[in-house]
Amino acid sequence: MAVRALAEGKMKDSKQIQRRQFNRWLVSASLIPMAGKALVLEASRPKPRIAVVGAGIVGSAITYHLAKRGLDVTLLDRNAVASASSHGTFAWINASWAKQPESYHALNQMGVDAWHRLQRALNLPVKWGGSLEWFAAPERQDRLARDVQEQQAWGEPARMLTELEALALEPRVAFGGAGRVALSPRDGALDPVLVSQLLVNAAKNYGARVIEHCELLRVDETTEDQRQKILGTSCGDMAFDRFVLATGADPSAIHSFAGFDLPQRSTPGVIVVTHPIPPVLSHIVVAPGIHIHQRLDGRLVLGEQEGAPESAAHKLRLTARPTRFPSKATASQHAQRMITLARQYVTGLPEVKVEEVIIGWRPLPLDGHPVIGPSPADPNAYVAVMHSGVSLAAIVGELVAEELLTGVRAPALAPFRADRTFEPVRRY
Ligand SMILES: Cc1cc2nc3c(=O)[nH]c(=O)nc-3n(C[C@H](O)[C@H](O)[C@H](O)COP(=O)(O)OP(=O)(O)OC[C@H]3O[C@@H](n4cnc5c(N)ncnc54)[C@H](O)[C@@H]3O)c2cc1C
Repeated sequence: MAVRALAEGKMKDSKQIQRRQFNRWLVSASLIPMAGKALVLEASRPKPRIAVVGAGIVGSAITYHLAKRGLDVTLLDRNAVASASSHGTFAWINASWAKQPESYHALNQMGVDAWHRLQRALNLPVKWGGSLEWFAAPERQDRLARDVQEQQAWGEPARMLTELEALALEPRVAFGGAGRVALSPRDGALDPVLVSQLLVNAAKNYGARVIEHCELLRVDETTEDQRQKILGTSCGDMAFDRFVLATGADPSAIHSFAGFDLPQRSTPGVIVVTHPIPPVLSHIVVAPGIHIHQRLDGRLVLGEQEGAPESAAHKLRLTARPTRFPSKATASQHAQRMITLARQYVTGLPEVKVEEVIIGWRPLPLDGHPVIGPSPADPNAYVAVMHSGVSLAAIVGELVAEELLTGVRAPALAPFRADRTFEPVRRY
């Protein structure tokens, strides 16, 4: 299936109109460098106005970079900052083995570097220390070792450790006879809600407007001079030169507001956050069946490796995309199951009190890779929907701001445009 093919059937307009519109985007958004056509700031003209819809970690980072570059930016969210995927996420920053092929790995490597830059610029609380990962099945361990070799060839300083070497790094972890453990030393993790809020505050300091509890409801026709689009929102109509849809896993947003279908296979995952405890882990631990890390504030974050069971009853329950379990008792059962599993791997884990149990929904384009760039159907719309949005937010913020401002295409984003072919790949 191709989004190119969506152009054939599923897009709102006819093929001819789409091509005309896309060409218009190329010119008006200056995706090819064209002097005077990009969103350049000229003293004689009012600043171009950009809306960013979606205040998750991706929209917050884009808003920060746009505001820092001097654009007139408004960030809207129908709920609060970081209330969707960027709340129910494990929040591991990595360019590890799962990031394939090389172009996607490279973008994630750039993502790690960009987080360091952003951390230095804003003094953000990002915990670095690397990750330790292993599997139970010997054949899966063999594949991990091969994938680590591939990462090394792609410039990542990952390596396979013996269990003793891993123990020296993380003495409280029971590697359970794994034999070999993958170390990805550049990995980190953060508190996604806190960091999104800090990005939003920094954007406000550069003049961005941030409107929470304001939902984009429709995109109206352009203004009379054809330059701007009217966004109809629950907090009134507003005109913008461009709008960026960083709307996450919402299945309908891209169709409704950017005029094309983005094939998504959003999957749920359970995240448990505990109250703070004294330091027990310095690495992100990716053990069979469970991911664990300890935030800088002492909270443990647990994530499941497997998704929901495939049963019909589960499927039915999940159709409404709940972010909470139906009762406190069910939530507590899930949390206790995950904590019990974590105890198998972290020896001497003290009693932990559960603070939150969240069902997160992954924004997951069908091939598992980000969709970043202009809408093939609307010259004013720009899309930024992705999994691994925590790993990628910092670099995506930089690159999207640069593209919108200068009109020059970022080569690193070339494989992730909306008009590519989407092959279904099960990644998460
Ligand atoms: C269980 C789980 C574990 C994960 N683990 C990791 C990990 O370890 N590392 C990693 O890099 N990634 C991970 N991810 C993925 C990562 O969390 C997401 O890619 C990232 O949070 C996406 O951020 P976002 O800003 O694009 O989307 P979101 O955080 O979902 O934000 C989108 C926002 O858009 C708003 N919105 C939608 N429609 C409208 C509208 N019409 N009007 C106004 N606002 C609107 C929503 O309210 C929402 O706040 C995980 C995800 C899950 C679910």
